[in-house]
Amino acid sequence: MKLARKFDVYTIIITLLSIAALIVFSIFTKSISFDRPLLIIIAIGVIMFLALVVSQIILSKIIIRPIKTIKGVSEAIAGGETGKRINISSEDELDSLSKSVNKMAEAMEDKLKKLTDSIAKEQEVVREQAILNELMGFIASGMNVEEILRTFINRTRDLLKAEHSGIFILERPEAGSEPELKIFLNTFVEETSMDCAKTMLNGIFSNAIRTFMPYRTNTLSGEIPGSHFSVKNMLAIPMSSADKKVVGLIVLANKEDGFTEEDEDVLFGFTFQAFQAITMQKEIIRYATTDGLTSLNNHRVFMKRLDEEMERAVRYARDISLLMVDIDHFKSFNDTYGHQSGDRVLKTIAELIQKNIRNTDFAARYGGEEFAIILPETTGPQALVVAERLRNNVSTHDFLLQNEQHTTVTVSIGYATYPDDADGSEMLLKKADQGLYFAKENGRNMSCRYYDIKGKTEDDIPEELKSILRDTSLTSIKELAKAIDSKSNYMKGHSFEVAALSVKIGKELKLDEAQVEGLRIASLLHDIGNLAIPDNILNKPGALTEEEKKIIKGHPGLTEMLLKHHPGSDYVLPAILYHHERYDGKGYPHGLQAEEIPLAAKILGVVEAYHAMTSSRPYKKRKTKLEAVAELESEAGKQFDPEVVKSLVDFLKNLPDPKEKRRGN
Ligand code: GH3
Ligand code: MG
Ligand code: MG
Repeated sequence: MKLARKFDVYTIIITLLSIAALIVFSIFTKSISFDRPLLIIIAIGVIMFLALVVSQIILSKIIIRPIKTIKGVSEAIAGGETGKRINISSEDELDSLSKSVNKMAEAMEDKLKKLTDSIAKEQEVVREQAILNELMGFIASGMNVEEILRTFINRTRDLLKAEHSGIFILERPEAGSEPELKIFLNTFVEETSMDCAKTMLNGIFSNAIRTFMPYRTNTLSGEIPGSHFSVKNMLAIPMSSADKKVVGLIVLANKEDGFTEEDEDVLFGFTFQAFQAITMQKEIIRYATTDGLTSLNNHRVFMKRLDEEMERAVRYARDISLLMVDIDHFKSFNDTYGHQSGDRVLKTIAELIQKNIRNTDFAARYGGEEFAIILPETTGPQALVVAERLRNNVSTHDFLLQNEQHTTVTVSIGYATYPDDADGSEMLLKKADQGLYFAKENGRNMSCRYYDIKGKTEDDIPEELKSILRDTSLTSIKELAKAIDSKSNYMKGHSFEVAALSVKIGKELKLDEAQVEGLRIASLLHDIGNLAIPDNILNKPGALTEEEKKIIKGHPGLTEMLLKHHPGSDYVLPAILYHHERYDGKGYPHGLQAEEIPLAAKILGVVEAYHAMTSSRPYKKRKTKLEAVAELESEAGKQFDPEVVKSLVDFLKNLPDPKEKRRGN
């Protein structure tokens, strides 16, 4: 009933009641004698009072109370108690207001619920994201897979508020083969072993693994077979890597109110991402640690590994060797065949390196065309075997180039060993590098150990020698030449004799004065590198070993090191440096040929060879002048410059046989 009607009804009732009260009152007052007008006034007063009270009561019931209720409920709703409702008993305006308030409350309740749900979802996503980020962080930091998986199952358990969680990782070694269980981790009791995991995989989870469908049940009661772990509900989500080689199953158990479909969705989404990230770990680590072109380890990882291996070698008093491998003349290779062919060669050499080393060795691309190989538990001689095998494999390999051309490539290898050559990784690197320098200087395509050239680096040149070298006077150079010759007990006077002969030929071949002077000093000092060759090798009776030959061959490069600060070195150095080059380009250290070789060097080369042929050496008999001349002539155009040979031979014709002369002495 509408309020106006209600008021009409109540007004009629009050009026009727007042009339009734008036009648009752008049009947009652007839029986008593009282002053009438006064009575009438009192009666009207009383009736008005009663009418007022009744109206008040009615007003309160139909208006004030409902309004108070509406106010109270509205306030409660505004305060967040959206579940509050007003009881509706009739159909008046206040009731329809109440209905509106109720409707508003319902709408608010609905909105609030949606908001709360979306906030909860949002928070869930944020938590999932935080966990994923944490896992990615572990992955990037190179934490081992097991630790990452352990974190993963713990976080998953917390995320879905389950009591326990576990993960099974299976791997298919071959495509299509049956997966093998590799890792089983769980937060169940420790006794849930690998065997128990296998029982579960072949039992309750077999279908999930086969079909990749989630497994969810809330009606379990009892122990997991093979364990003392009792379960009441379980949720398992299978996962697989992109190539299906790695298969995983994450299992949650014992959630208080059981697992819902929503839990299944959450776990599915989360584990999918996490598992992808974890299986990508290998890829990520590979990416961060390997060189893109050759797939070998990169420089950064190499340095880290070298320190680790060195620490181990020091701690357990083991040998450790390091090889530095550098491609020979690679710059000109690129210039000739192109960069792409160069890249192919780099790849192939990386493969050859991998084939030539053990699993425990560690190969890296150290720089552009340099490779470094750590050989743990390997002595110097053992490292040489590896180095030589690799070097041979490279030099005999048929490299197929971009344009279907075939060619060969060589490498030089320097190596050093702890503890013989170095006391730590930094020094080991330096020494192996010096070995490499030595190999390059001595003609390339060889393996040299730092140990072999001990005492032959610039750092090791004695101070007094350095000061003689700084002195330009011929006297001091002669002193030095004497010192050089005296190192060898069969070369007394060698430097002086070579110098005298070279100068003659130099003049003959029209060198200018400065060049002749340079040639003289070069001839006097050409064996200065011998100062660094151990006496036992220099004076060894019998043939030299390959290693010893390498050391002897090293002297032109060492000479450069010794002489490069000498003021006259512009003329002196080239003569010394290239006197072992051959006219046909097969000499060392740079394989120069014909006109590329400075004339002074060619003269020195021929004169030294002649002198060596006609001198006694511990390992061979000396030749007569005629024999030597014959040999020089037969090598003209091959080892020697024909013009220089001719000039020397012409000169010698007028000289007595040195053999005869010395025999006479
Ligand atoms: P040496 O025998 O003295 O080692 O001579 P080299 O020419 O090999 O020595 P150098 O160190 O002067 O030159 C190295 C060259 O290696 C320079 C560059 O052209 C080449 N190189 C470096 N990195 C790469 C690469 O990634 N790909 C290719 N194709 N070439 C590279
Ligand atoms: Mg290089
Ligand atoms: Mg090189």
